[in-house]
Amino acid sequence: AREAYAAKRPRSAAIHARAREVMPGGNTRTVLFYTPFPTAMVRGEGCRLWDADGQEYLDLLGEYSAGLFGHSERRILDAVKAALDRGINFGAAGEKEAELAALIVGRFPSIEQVRFTNSGTEANLMALAAARGFTGRAKTLVMRGGYHGGVLSFASETSPANLPIPLAFADYNDPEGATHAILAEGEQLAAVLVEPMLGSGGCIPASPEFLAALREATRRTGAVLIFDEVMTSRHGPGGLQAMTGVIPDVTTLGKYMAGGMSFGAFGGRRDIMAVFDGHRPGALPHAGTFNNNVLSMAAGCVAMGEIFTAQAAEALYERGERLRAALNAACARAGVAMHFTGRGSMLTVQFRPGPILRPHAATPGEDGLRELFFLDMLAAGLYLARRGMAALSLPVTEAECGRYLAAVEEFIAARRPLLA
Ligand code: PMP
Repeated sequence: AREAYAAKRPRSAAIHARAREVMPGGNTRTVLFYTPFPTAMVRGEGCRLWDADGQEYLDLLGEYSAGLFGHSERRILDAVKAALDRGINFGAAGEKEAELAALIVGRFPSIEQVRFTNSGTEANLMALAAARGFTGRAKTLVMRGGYHGGVLSFASETSPANLPIPLAFADYNDPEGATHAILAEGEQLAAVLVEPMLGSGGCIPASPEFLAALREATRRTGAVLIFDEVMTSRHGPGGLQAMTGVIPDVTTLGKYMAGGMSFGAFGGRRDIMAVFDGHRPGALPHAGTFNNNVLSMAAGCVAMGEIFTAQAAEALYERGERLRAALNAACARAGVAMHFTGRGSMLTVQFRPGPILRPHAATPGEDGLRELFFLDMLAAGLYLARRGMAALSLPVTEAECGRYLAAVEEFIAARRPLLA
């Protein structure tokens, strides 16, 4: 499969060869690196992509969930072009920030006030700074397998070796273990940082009991509960917090919310966010040249104000739920050790039977199947994450979901001996 992949992509190969001379590994985003070389995309329209060698794909990755609106949403493009016509970034307060902030405050139950960043990574770092400033405590509890950005990746306890923040760990979806860990840290603990669905860790939703246990234990010790909804905020009009009814103290956001322009935000309780209030003596600093960049602010107002309405969020969630149910029914019918985890419009293929409650150490066999799945989908004209994640965008219709289902059924038929 690898040879067939390479043979069809001479221009992608050449782009990679050149990139390797000037970038380590020829790459600037770890998730986009795979052997022998990544496919280079050169154009997108709606939910279609074209690679450097002229092949067309159905885009089921949706820029790792940031591409919610597709590649050519007219209203997003108009907003960005109109902003450009007025000039790029002024080094000054603008008129759109408060408008976008109000849209966000109006939607997420935990967010009384919000500040912007350039990425989800920064949003999480600033949320941790807020929690530490507010509590006067140092430590943060994170989940094994959690992902909150390049420097906040907890796939293993040694992965954040360069992170100057004292950490404690708990297992995902283990309410008793997490409660015990939080109470044991007691007044040392500034924050608990958790994704209400592990995204990068395999689209594994948190159980309601797990989230409720985190809420209860942090309430008892005074630690700030932070939900990283960078990915999951798309699941409903008020994010996964509104759907589960477990309301954190602080929420971090990112990805799609500025219409596909770079974006991050963190917000929460007014008394916590007040640590950044420049009107108060001793306020914590939070600067950033591009925090209020005019493209993100303008596109975000249209994206959140006009396009990704409550109704649109609910419809997208339902489309994803139907697709995953159909995929899992196909796996069950075929009797293979394959399962699709996730919620709503985000799903990841797993090569073991469900239900799956926490990330496992992947075996070499499983990684081989993931690569084969990825390559077979590419050969069928479907673009997903190398790890097998899909994030449906608004232009993806039921018919296109059907194409994914058909391709998965074909994969099962062709590779059945490997899927026992
Ligand atoms: N948190 C979660 C849950 C994410 O999925 C990601 C990105 N995949 C981030 C944080 C980091 O966001 P960014 O890539 O914009 O820094």
